[in-house]
Amino acid sequence: MFLNRYARQIAFSGIGAEGQNKLLTSTVAIIGVGALGTVLANILCRAGIGRLRLIDRDYVEFTNLQRQILFTEEDAIKRRPKAVAACEFLKKVNSEIVLEPVVSELNSGNITQILDGVDLVLDAVDNWETRFLINEWSVKNKIAWIYSAALGSQGMTMNFCYNNSDNSNTPNNSAVNSNRPCLRCFIPADQSQTQQQTCATAGILAMSTGTAASIQATEAVKIILNSPATREGLLTIDLWTNRFKNIKIDRDMDCPVCVCGNYEYLSRSGGMRVQKLCGRNSIQITPELQTPIDLESFAKTLANAGKIEANRYILNFTNDECQFVLFQDGRAIIENVQDETHAKSIYNEFIGLR
Ligand SMILES: [Zn+2]
Repeated sequence: MFLNRYARQIAFSGIGAEGQNKLLTSTVAIIGVGALGTVLANILCRAGIGRLRLIDRDYVEFTNLQRQILFTEEDAIKRRPKAVAACEFLKKVNSEIVLEPVVSELNSGNITQILDGVDLVLDAVDNWETRFLINEWSVKNKIAWIYSAALGSQGMTMNFCYNNSDNSNTPNNSAVNSNRPCLRCFIPADQSQTQQQTCATAGILAMSTGTAASIQATEAVKIILNSPATREGLLTIDLWTNRFKNIKIDRDMDCPVCVCGNYEYLSRSGGMRVQKLCGRNSIQITPELQTPIDLESFAKTLANAGKIEANRYILNFTNDECQFVLFQDGRAIIENVQDETHAKSIYNEFIGLR
């Protein structure tokens, strides 16, 4: 009776009853609950991944609804945190699995704690900095992760498997897998510094994110099941020009991460962080100490300076000069600003955490 909901998936020869049990006992983290992340969470929740951890730093907006399939207009009006809104929706779909929302930015200070106990990490983020961090964590902990990205009508995805989550049927496993590249083997670190197109400038089709994330979810299931069918190489797709390409990637034998073990992003120290958000006229400020704050007392103090709207997870503040959203971990997204110094001064004036 318990497994009945998975009957059509169990009937598929690649999965079967044994495979289904393996899915039910696995833990998967999805980092970023946007266009890619909502598709991943939707598929993997229904497929019966036993424990899904959804990590996202942002809240739902109307421009998300065209492609972020787990959100409603009400979520956008109430500015619900994406991780929470997605888990609330999915609980109604499958109450037999564990759904864990994490409203936080993934960074070097919290990655060990946030990814504790996961078997597989799925990248659904919109920036290189977080991907390099995930890559280093995965190489160090020998836990597989899957990269994916989408823009316009294009999408790409690639599996990064290391010794213990790779095809364990192969003899002398570690030697075979030592030829597998990591992300830094072919993407230079200064990639994150270059000016790139975003969803806001190049646009994005829900079909591209849906396709890239569906392939990524399929590979996730294969990796969990140790399937010999697990894909290798970088897959790029363009749905508008009908191009599908799989590019073989070699390991760089001078790679600073998987060869030299130099974990630059993992070892970055804290301090207040100021980041422009992808495709938005907003800047995020993260204080060094991300300890939970009492939003209610902030609401009381800030009510003297402007208009407040708050829920359990976030506080919206608006006055004639500025607008920002404050999160429980002390982070704030300052809206309608371009200049980092200006954003920082708004943060210091109204929030003032260090
Ligand atoms: Zn490497």
